[in-house]
Amino acid sequence: MAEKRDYYEVLGVQKSASDDEIKKAFRKMSKKYHPDLNPGNKEAEEKFKEVNEAYQVLSDSDKKSKYDQFGHAGVDPNFGAGGGYGGAGFDFGDIFGDIFGGFGGGFGGGRRNGPRRGNDIRRVIDISFEEAAFGCTKKMNIQTQEKCEECGGTGAKKGTTVTTCSHCNGTGRVKTQQRTILGYMTTETTCPQCNGEGKIIKEPCRECRGTGAVRRNKTIEVQIPSGIDDNQTIQLSGKGEAGSKGGPNGDLLITVRVRPHDIFQRRGNDVFINMPISFVEAALGANVKVPTIDGGCVELTIPEGTQAGTRFRMKGKGIPYLRSKSRGDQYVTVEIEIPRNLTQKQKELLKDFDEDKNYKQKKNWYDKIKNFMK
Ligand SMILES: [Zn+2]
Ligand SMILES: [Zn+2]
Repeated sequence: MAEKRDYYEVLGVQKSASDDEIKKAFRKMSKKYHPDLNPGNKEAEEKFKEVNEAYQVLSDSDKKSKYDQFGHAGVDPNFGAGGGYGGAGFDFGDIFGDIFGGFGGGFGGGRRNGPRRGNDIRRVIDISFEEAAFGCTKKMNIQTQEKCEECGGTGAKKGTTVTTCSHCNGTGRVKTQQRTILGYMTTETTCPQCNGEGKIIKEPCRECRGTGAVRRNKTIEVQIPSGIDDNQTIQLSGKGEAGSKGGPNGDLLITVRVRPHDIFQRRGNDVFINMPISFVEAALGANVKVPTIDGGCVELTIPEGTQAGTRFRMKGKGIPYLRSKSRGDQYVTVEIEIPRNLTQKQKELLKDFDEDKNYKQKKNWYDKIKNFMK
């Protein structure tokens, strides 16, 4: 027998490694050398054994401190006589559960047959800008898995009963113990008699073919709350697929897509709109009618000398906040329309008007240019 390697070395960690680091290293190593992933590879098998042995010691604070003081002699009663598991019953189910439990239980375990939560149902719904702003009720068709009413979800034909599987006593799993080169191995497998259900249905229900659940199309009404925004999801607890064996129902998750509006844009709970006004209105000031999401128009006073791009705020005319009475604001950005196709008379009037060049901005700009050219 070759000399035993240092346990820390086996796991590739420092002597000062924390419990977490040791556990992490062990997971990594045992995945790497797992016999299921290295079929027929003797070397991997040996390494796997070695890694497990190292972990058995380093994960146990008592054994670890003995090992730290006395080395292999401190922890292994068979030290010098071959090592291994010392014949102790070693439950692989546990260690596999520990290593592989985190990603689906693909090894050794198999899924449990207890109560299971029903699946969630996910849907996307298209609504208009106004529907999102003020809320609405929508009908939608969903296909869902529901408890079979014919048999009450048992899966057994009406009038018959479900019996407990005698092969596994209703657990759905059977254990076998084998002696292998890795010591005693307890393996647990799905009961072949009942396919892991733990129950035997002699005469299956015709409606659901013994599954206890049926697919059904149904129309439901969904309340969309006012203020909902694009891409937000409404969660209706327990409105998803039926759970099995007494498990809870899944949820219904409805994601909202809000169609864009022709004139309004939304940012959070504020609404933005561009408003064209004539250059005369901009120059002289005016009262203009601005559409709002409420449907009507609201009068807005444009002061004398308003410049293009000026933004006005109309308080409380925006989108309602979710579950609240308050609302965002509406912002109106002024666009100034330069007249086209003027009559001869209009052109002359404008020329007259332009004789007196009292434009402040234009003057400032020319002054800057003059300075720049110097
Ligand atoms: Zn049924
Ligand atoms: Zn069984």
